[in-house]
Amino acid sequence: TNWILGLTGGIGSGKTAASDYLASKGIAVVDSDLVARAVVEPYQPAWSAIREHFGDAAINADSSLNRGWLRQQVFANPDERRWLEQLTHPLIRARTLEMLAAATSEYVILASPLLLESGQQTLVNHTLVIDVPEDIQVQRACQRDANNEEQIRAIIKAQIPRPERLARANDVADNSGPLNQLYEQLNRLHQSYLDLAKAHHS
Ligand code: ATP
Repeated sequence: TNWILGLTGGIGSGKTAASDYLASKGIAVVDSDLVARAVVEPYQPAWSAIREHFGDAAINADSSLNRGWLRQQVFANPDERRWLEQLTHPLIRARTLEMLAAATSEYVILASPLLLESGQQTLVNHTLVIDVPEDIQVQRACQRDANNEEQIRAIIKAQIPRPERLARANDVADNSGPLNQLYEQLNRLHQSYLDLAKAHHS
């Protein structure tokens, strides 16, 4: 079986920068956000179940899910949230496992903003956290999305607290400096992951 690196970090920490860099070294990346979208693509079983349950209001004119509308429904109603999670979580987990198993690179990355919050950490052999102080998180996330500072701080509050995240990491890469400093750390970590994966396979 493949040796799996879980990659996570708070909003705006640099997860994408890190996974893109490791992908450029030939490492396969499974992105949990993309898997979550794939299971509800038009005419997939989960898409059909959602349409049946919530009605056509849940579906856009182009057949895609109306995510904004659904978010409002589950935000307002914990029973609906549970219903949706019980439908989608097992499918997401199964699809994630499938994609992790299908990868042929020396090791494989599961990149997930909610790795630690969602139970996905049980799927991985090793956890790498990309870390920056909260002020840098806010600054970079604001620049990227034109979200206001208040929204970003609210998202940070809803995520696992930084000390707990760091305590649950096997490795931490500090991304408070320029990208080349992140890449230097990742070069070293990548070498250690190649060794760990080799030992895992032998
Ligand atoms: P999210 O969870 O919000 O999707 P993320 O953890 O994937 O974020 P990135 O998208 O990689 O984070 O980085 C957030 C923003 O900060 C991006 O615009 C990115 O280009 C920028 N960024 C990342 N690392 C650095 C760095 N070391 N120096 C300057 N800017 C950076």
